[in-house]
Amino acid sequence: MLKFETNQPEDWKRELLNSLTNVQDLADHRLISKDEAGRVESISQEFKIRITPYYAQLIENSPDCPIRKQAIPHLSERDPFLPEWATEWSRKIYNRPEPWHPDPIGDLQLQVAPRLTHRYGQRAILHLSSMCAVYCRFCFRKSHLNDENRTLYEGGLQPAFDYLREHPEISELILTGGDPLSLNDLMLEKIFHQIEALPGIQMLRIHSRMAVTLPSRFTENLIKILNQGWRFNITIVSHFNHPKELTEIARKKLRMLRRAGVTLLNQTVLMRGVNASVTTLQLLFQTLYENGCIPYYLHHPDWTPGTFHFRVSVQEGRNLIQNLRGLVSGPALPEYVLDIPQGLGKASLMSNDIEKIDGFKSNEFTGAIYELTPPSTRNSNRNEGNKKALYLDFATTL
Ligand code: SF4
Repeated sequence: MLKFETNQPEDWKRELLNSLTNVQDLADHRLISKDEAGRVESISQEFKIRITPYYAQLIENSPDCPIRKQAIPHLSERDPFLPEWATEWSRKIYNRPEPWHPDPIGDLQLQVAPRLTHRYGQRAILHLSSMCAVYCRFCFRKSHLNDENRTLYEGGLQPAFDYLREHPEISELILTGGDPLSLNDLMLEKIFHQIEALPGIQMLRIHSRMAVTLPSRFTENLIKILNQGWRFNITIVSHFNHPKELTEIARKKLRMLRRAGVTLLNQTVLMRGVNASVTTLQLLFQTLYENGCIPYYLHHPDWTPGTFHFRVSVQEGRNLIQNLRGLVSGPALPEYVLDIPQGLGKASLMSNDIEKIDGFKSNEFTGAIYELTPPSTRNSNRNEGNKKALYLDFATTL
């Protein structure tokens, strides 16, 4: 295992400053060879790098290391050349030759004020920061985080708060980013006070990967702020993808958060080469559950540029969930979901929301066309009538 000099255990800001942020840093710390550094330089120009010393220490010197795959840039981030059937279906369904899109789940499409997305009637998403402790190679907001104009993160927060005040039907606010906990404690506390002044908000959900990539972020002071007796309940949704990420320090921070009255949930992205196996998911979900963190979603990968190599097919995902039943405690088995592209909301992939209508197989790819029932037909902020959505699903077989 690679070793880095560590700082004061609670000094998260210094740890962030000491993060590895370019291919030269990766080569200097022997995470990649000099040759590899040359090969992935162009990838790193397109999709930025940041790896905290803590997360870097989890990376093993093997191309199969699941932490390496999530953090180190790779040539596979170049989108592949697609077979004809895939481009044809993509044109039919998405009006473009490739299914991937820089705004894969419609954060911008459903933006109602700067930094604010309103997809479902009762909840809204506030994009607080474009910064993360680690820039994950699989991230579904990869294009937004690497957008030079920072379109999703532009502007002050006042118009978003004005919108929320004018829409008291919004009872849950989701803070996301990037990582909202990359803001310092003072800024977060100020924002919590502004949220407290919004009469409609009863629930505050914070989507953060800090427990995975920078557990020292959960200082005593931050935990005190979270436990300050706010009018709204606080849930932290963490993002553990592999059991190796549940280190002793990460588990300790989860328990501290639980003791502070924070509800803990976890969402995992299903990824080829990282966690797409029954044994890995079983250990991940069960360990999360045993540490007071409920695995509530397993996400099928979104159609995000630069992430094709992580894709598994829907059928593989469904088989995994079937095989996990009985192996993990009931509450530890998450719902397997897909965000229907460009903002149509989530479909459960283990339910009647999904029906296969066609299938393909070649030497390189396996794929299928599904008909999905978007939640827009039930309770979304969008008015799409009762239209079903077609979904193109395919993955490499290599
Ligand atoms: S921490 Fe979250 S938002 Fe940031 S790069 Fe990773 S997955 Fe994306």
